[in-house]
Amino acid sequence: MILPKLMRGPRTPDPVPAVPAGGPVAYVSLRHGEGPDPAARLDAGPHGLSWAGGSRTGDRLRGVLWARWTTAPGAPAVVGGVHPGRQMHAMRNLLCRVCACRVGADARGLLFLVPAVRGPVEGLLTVDPPACVPCAWRIAGPDPSAWTALRVPVPDGYGVVGGIHRPGPGGTVVAVAGRQSVMVPFGDLRAPWTVATAMVRTLRGATRTSLAREARTRSPRAGPREGSSPFG
Ligand SMILES: [Zn+2]
Repeated sequence: MILPKLMRGPRTPDPVPAVPAGGPVAYVSLRHGEGPDPAARLDAGPHGLSWAGGSRTGDRLRGVLWARWTTAPGAPAVVGGVHPGRQMHAMRNLLCRVCACRVGADARGLLFLVPAVRGPVEGLLTVDPPACVPCAWRIAGPDPSAWTALRVPVPDGYGVVGGIHRPGPGGTVVAVAGRQSVMVPFGDLRAPWTVATAMVRTLRGATRTSLAREARTRSPRAGPREGSSPFG
């Protein structure tokens, strides 16, 4: 799947990768051979969707059913693609989206790197998990100006991006509006009928920062220039 870019307000977002073409192969990156599990079948119950054959760890987040995709560890990455299960794992646990480390917080919060934002940053919605400082440099590559770095106190879970379904004839389940993905807040009436492919968080209380500043804070003697990575 291709994840939507940073979103402001509840609207259906445009596709943009969490890690740009030419960027690092990230923990959340989709790999060739990965895709929707062909053995997974949806059931429609009185209270919403479930996977036939019983539940598994990671099937749900705050009651929302998660897409079941296959995994192909070690396979080459699909440019711009994101694996729904790994996105949820990283976003839920606030792990770095590239190296999956537990991202450290300072007094301003966790580091988020999002496509450049010109206007106010308060209350933005994002599907991009946070990043550790070295990985933020790797994502930004040669053009940090294309990105906005934010420090955010523990961000609220807003909802999911996914496909909405409804019961069909003969016990079948039908996708509403084809396979189009939409954003659904947690607690929304549509949430029990959604198969989620990404978790969305609200960046509240965000403070603008820069990768150069973050690197100086991390290593006072590094003295990096904006646009050059002190981490190689
Ligand atoms: Zn990292």
